[in-house]
Amino acid sequence: MANETNQLPAIISHCKEYGFIFPSSEIYDGLQAVYDYGQMGSDLKKNIKDHWWRSMTQLQDNIVGLDAAIFMHPTTWKASGHVDNFNDPMIDNKDSNKRYRVDHLIEAQVEKWNEEGKEKEAKQLLEQMDALLAKDDFDGLKLLIESNKISCSISGTCNWTDIRQFNLMFATEFGSTDGEDNRVYLRPETAQGIFVNFLNVQKTGRMKVPFGIAQIGKAFRNEIVARQFIFRMREFEQMEMQFFVRPGSQKEWYAFWKAERMKWHLALGIPAEKYRFHDHVKLAHYADAACDIEFAFPMGFKELEGIHSRTDFDLKQHQEFSMKKQQYFDNDLDPATGKPYGNYIPYVIETSIGLDRMFLVVISHAYEEQDLSTADKQDSRVVLKLPPVLAPIKMAVLPLNKKDGLPEIAESILAECRPHFRCFYEEKDSIGKRYRRMDALGTPFCVTVDYQTKEDNTVTIRHRDSMEQERIPIAELKSMVQRSLSI
Ligand code: ATP
Repeated sequence: MANETNQLPAIISHCKEYGFIFPSSEIYDGLQAVYDYGQMGSDLKKNIKDHWWRSMTQLQDNIVGLDAAIFMHPTTWKASGHVDNFNDPMIDNKDSNKRYRVDHLIEAQVEKWNEEGKEKEAKQLLEQMDALLAKDDFDGLKLLIESNKISCSISGTCNWTDIRQFNLMFATEFGSTDGEDNRVYLRPETAQGIFVNFLNVQKTGRMKVPFGIAQIGKAFRNEIVARQFIFRMREFEQMEMQFFVRPGSQKEWYAFWKAERMKWHLALGIPAEKYRFHDHVKLAHYADAACDIEFAFPMGFKELEGIHSRTDFDLKQHQEFSMKKQQYFDNDLDPATGKPYGNYIPYVIETSIGLDRMFLVVISHAYEEQDLSTADKQDSRVVLKLPPVLAPIKMAVLPLNKKDGLPEIAESILAECRPHFRCFYEEKDSIGKRYRRMDALGTPFCVTVDYQTKEDNTVTIRHRDSMEQERIPIAELKSMVQRSLSI
């Protein structure tokens, strides 16, 4: 049975065995930190996306969507600061040649000390690291690593190089000729596609500040320490929303979006103690306030979503680099002056969540190994207690056997329900085995068609989490499943 320390490997193998996630190009031994979502995973991922999209656009009256291209004009990344600043401080071990991100190397030591009961030392080390990172004091960080005898996990030595910056953007060339002029980047975040379209959307959508633009899309980062399954990938998806506000009101909106986003997470039924806010000590170059929503992943509390008050930094930069005004005219009256607020560059509150990290949240919280043994029989099951709205398959229809007209009744139930939600049909194996397979896929309802169905048009519906079964009329099935899908 998986316990806390081996829960992640158990989840990884479950994801592979049941078609949720495969290593990319596995027949060639995979590609580090790149993954493919399989027949079940692609549906679960899409359901998470749809759920976020619906709550951030359809259920809001002032947020609209966007689907910008991955490639952007290279000047975008000069303006945004990514060419100069999207770096991580790295350090190499001279004996193993292994490269580490400095904060990851120190955090691993903090975790080790915490496990050994040295909480006070761990806390102090973390505070010292935060203070040095905030000052970009690389000599101080190297000294901190050496004086605490933090060693390489491969060579076991403390023989470190100096700390250097490493840019995380992937570059490639446009067209057929090589050279600097043709260099383009795979976007490292989706946000810039929103900023450069701010006026397009505002004008054509006749949007009034405050308003938001939401986007879901791929982002790419050449992560050096790519590890922990889909938590840190080189190709991943982000679900981002930039909310444009009047300058001076950003504090209020920052607090609003912090609360809103936490509400969104809790509405999925995951307990509040698995989430926490972490305020940034070192603010990014564009932010005047920032925090992360952290989740208790199988490997500990880690960042799931960032909420950033990005000031007017991005729009101002794009205005300067493009030489095109990025202003908004606000004709609402300022109560202080009695005159319209007039022209300004809006401030921005950003909410940015990794879709793949959210997938890991959902699947790691849902995964449960249960011992169902009784006095006379050993039994167990693995169940994914997915919220029905996110489950890849909502209902499985299982005829008791393959004859006597039972498959035909099952077919008619499928024909009725399929247009409304994803169903699954299975007639092989015993009912018990079929239930177990559906539990492992996270299917909330299994419907069994048996001989009584032929007499009174009722079926047995089995609930995944409680394993309870009840008899209900076929006519009530569709609405019963549909009711479970609303949050
Ligand atoms: P981290 O500190 O973990 O590297 P970050 O602070 O660089 O993350 P942001 O730039 O704020 O992350 O990106 C917003 C969100 O995108 C993160 O909260 C995370 O959910 C997701 N994300 C960032 N990098 C990755 C990655 N390499 N793989 C998967 N998701 C990622």
